[in-house]
Order: sequence, then structure tokens, then C-alpha cells
Amino acid sequence: MGTNKATSVNGNQTLHAFFKGAVVPMDEAKVSVMTHALHYGTAVFEGIRGNWNEEKGKMFIFRMREHYERLIRGCKILMLDIPYTADQLCNITVDLIMTNGHDSDIYIRPLAYKSAEVVANLKLQDLDSDFTLITVPFGNYLGTDILRCCTSSWRRVDDNMIPTQIKSAGIYVNSLLAKTEATLAGFDEAIILNQDGHVSEGSGENVFMVSGGKLHTPRLEDNALPGITRDTVIQLAQDEMGLQVMERSIDRSELYLCDEVFLSGTAAHLTPVVSLDSRDIGTGKPGPISLELQKMYFDIVAGKNPKYLHWCTDVTPVSIPA
Ligand code: PMP
Repeated sequence: MGTNKATSVNGNQTLHAFFKGAVVPMDEAKVSVMTHALHYGTAVFEGIRGNWNEEKGKMFIFRMREHYERLIRGCKILMLDIPYTADQLCNITVDLIMTNGHDSDIYIRPLAYKSAEVVANLKLQDLDSDFTLITVPFGNYLGTDILRCCTSSWRRVDDNMIPTQIKSAGIYVNSLLAKTEATLAGFDEAIILNQDGHVSEGSGENVFMVSGGKLHTPRLEDNALPGITRDTVIQLAQDEMGLQVMERSIDRSELYLCDEVFLSGTAAHLTPVVSLDSRDIGTGKPGPISLELQKMYFDIVAGKNPKYLHWCTDVTPVSIPA
């Protein structure tokens, strides 16, 4: 594994990508303008984090297999035939990380896409597919440790419009419209309601609320993505803090009046929301339950909690001769 080490992130050399079945320099990983996915959003992707543990000199990839299982579910729905199992995708990822020699936090972005160079064909069953993967250095996605949010004027797509349980490329137009509207209006993030007016999620995060000493989060039937961080938070809240977790429909005004809100996501980590639509949430500061869960989460994703090491795949970068 990782024998074709040719680049160094620290040496400012080219990163490599997995493209058309091989590891190639990033600037050779190019698709044609005819590519179907570019025109129609016919792709599914994942966002996975590799967290660098300086003390151990290792990268810890968080819940990689679950991410690839979600990708494969997406491939099924979009009829994307890729010749890899979840385990093979995990191995390809470990190899690429070693090739790229990362020694800081990274974002891992696999993409299964309709690679057919065909225009004006809307039959998924006709179109060839391929798989590509990049890994890039990645820091704080939200650019802030606390969030001031607004309720988006955009509604979350309904599952029978575009499936909401998978990360298809096309559905992200919905997220981008909401995130763009929120940030242009001076907020950090959008809270998106579903067609019924219930809270669904953020533009790239699940939503949690603390109220009455319990943790509440929108049920998946309200079109929230089944987030891997969401699942992590639910397990930690129950098992480590003894909190009751309610997956249920949540109204917008409940968020105004609850004690704490936070968002969860691979890129976003677990980040407290301190205001919504210019109303302070709780005290207007990150709450104790959010902070305790956040601390636990940060330790776990960087491989610092032995009890949860089974959620992490560790990768030791190969040292390259100068
Ligand atoms: N909702 C949306 C729309 C997202 O893009 C993401 C990020 N993948 C999430 C929720 C959180 O999912 P996860 O915790 O699996 O990253």
C-alpha cells in the first residue's frame, strides 16, 4: 500500500488523485466537458475527514466504512455501477492518503459519477459510471466556532423530489441556495425547513436541540440526511451522558425557545448555534451539553479515546527520502 509516493503536501508538490482506476497527479485527473454528471448532477459523493494526531504521528479516518456504505446506497438509487465494494473503497482511500503524505487534517472526497460523454440522455440505465477520489488538507469548514443562523427562505427538497437519504450532487443546489442566501445576509449558516414547515437540517449539517434536559433532532422523514455525525452524537448522548434522544418533527419556534442548539456534520464537526433569526438561543452562549458532546467528539475523531478506536482507521504516512 502507498508505494507510489511521489508528492509531498509539505513540499508544495502536486497532490495525487484516484482517477479511472489509477493514482495519478491531480492535474492529470480531468474529465471532458461532455461528462454527463457535469450537466445533470448525476453523481453521489461523500465527505469524510482524516484527523491528524500529532502525538501519535498518525491520521485517523472517522467512520470511513459507514461513509462508503452511504455512497453505495446512493449508487444504487442513481444506478451508478462502480466496481468496488465498501472495503475496496476503504483500501483505495488509505493508499491515496499514504501517497499524498498528509500530515495535517484532511477532507476525503469520493465521487461516483455518470462519466458517459453523452448529452441529452436522461436514462440512468444507459449511462456509464466511474469513481474518483481526492484528499486535500482541510481546516475549520465553517470559519467560526459559534454560529448565528437564519431560517432559510428555501425549503429542503422532499424525498420524492430528489432522494434525501443520499448525497447526490444535484441536490446540493438546494444547499447552496440556502447557504448563499444566509451568508450574503450576514449569517453563518441556514436552518432549512421542509415542505411542511418543520425543521429539516442546515445546508450541510444536521440540527440538534436541547430542551427539557433531552436531546431532540429532526426525524429522517422530515428529509434530513442520515448524518454519520448525527448518529455519532445520538450514541454518545445516550451511552456516555445518559440523555434521552428524541427523533421527531421540530417546529421553528421550538428552536427559538429551547436551551441549546448545535449543528453536526463531518465538515462542520459539532458547532453550537448561539442565535437564530437574531434571537439568542438560551443564554446566547454555547450550552454545557453542546460543549461536553463537542469535547468528546473531538477526542474520538482524532483517535484519542480508546473506547471508540473502532470508529477510526489509522494511517501512518510513509516517510519520503529527501
Ligand atoms: N446534511 C447535509 C445536507 C450534509 O451535506 C451533511 C454533510 N455530509 C450532513 C447533513 C451531515 O452528514 P455527516 O454527519 O454524515 O457528514
